[in-house]
Amino acid sequence: MKYHSSKRVLITGGAGFLGSHLCDRMVEKGFEVLCLDNFFTGNKRNISHLLGKSNFELIRHDLTQPLFIEADEIYNLACPASPIHYQHNPVKTVKTNVMGAIHMLGMAKRVNAKILQASTSEIYGDPVVHPQKEDYWGNVNTIGIRSCYDEGKRCAETLFFDYHRQNRVNIRVVRIFNTYGPRMHPNDGRVVSNFIVQALQNREITVYGDGSQTRSFCYVDDLMEGLIRMMNGPDDFIGPVNLGNPNEFTILELAERVIELTGSKSKIIFKELPADDPLQRQPDISLAREKLDWQPEVQLEKGLKKTIEFFKQITAEFS
Ligand code: NAD
Ligand code: UDP
Repeated sequence: MKYHSSKRVLITGGAGFLGSHLCDRMVEKGFEVLCLDNFFTGNKRNISHLLGKSNFELIRHDLTQPLFIEADEIYNLACPASPIHYQHNPVKTVKTNVMGAIHMLGMAKRVNAKILQASTSEIYGDPVVHPQKEDYWGNVNTIGIRSCYDEGKRCAETLFFDYHRQNRVNIRVVRIFNTYGPRMHPNDGRVVSNFIVQALQNREITVYGDGSQTRSFCYVDDLMEGLIRMMNGPDDFIGPVNLGNPNEFTILELAERVIELTGSKSKIIFKELPADDPLQRQPDISLAREKLDWQPEVQLEKGLKKTIEFFKQITAEFS
């Protein structure tokens, strides 16, 4: 018999960009929310508005160490997501992904919790199949500078499926494609935050390569809806499932759009393309459409405007 009435939801990486939005949603739903973070890339500022709430609890903990607490659902999001952050300490990135997954899966097994893994489109590497469907196995360099993240996430997926087969842990695996929105880290080097901050400060916009590489960006609110639907979906649909926005455009087009929406005087400059930078990426989301009745609703212009507002606020506070 349980002595607590509402669902206990553990969100690892809860003080990060995506984690903090998920904390908001779960607190709003009235669940008991346990937000775990080591604050490597996360920030108390992202969740400070939740600190006084009776159904919100903050736990400072590093997921490379074991943890023993009770939860009914676990969203495993802890891991630096931007290349400059995950390449800062690549060994730690692998440990967070692999040991973090083992610790959380072990806990899910012990307390009989349902557990969702935030996997990534990076597991497809530099894809030779386009758009990417879940049954594509990927094209990943095992020894490159992105490998700590890509291979760490691939191994985490393997662990999730092995714990499911071997120990009947109730898992969900989602492959998240590039997501953007308020609370992105201003210095994380990711393209949306870089371009907006550069544009707001009328500095040069740094396009890597010739800007012809493509990405498709999902607004954070859409992604949250997808994560929650996946967690609450039927137990026979465990994934992996792609979550992202199939609206694909070039990085150069994104730069032009950001300049237009900010009314910036910035000029575009071209810099060297980083190693192993995928040339194209676009999710095939037919599985999510079919199984979760989910698709992104927020158009790029609307999402960019909200994100620009956020960066305007924080750059004003810090100037
Ligand atoms: P983020 O860096 O803002 O958040 C990650 C959080 O995890 C941070 O709060 C960080 O402090 C915490 N963390 C890192 N290592 C930890 C550790 N060892 N122990 C405890 N906490 C730790 O990144 P995000 O964009 O919010 O990404 C969240 C998750 O979603 C990540 O797992 C990432 O791989 C995945 N993802 C994100 C995107 C995206 O576009 N944002 C795309 C694909 C996958
Ligand atoms: N990029 C860019 N200028 C920047 C930051 C990134 O042209 O200031 C490019 C980067 O080379 C990549 C794309 O934008 O082709 C997306 O980069 P990001 O780091 O946001 O995500 P990821 O490469 O992980 O998809």
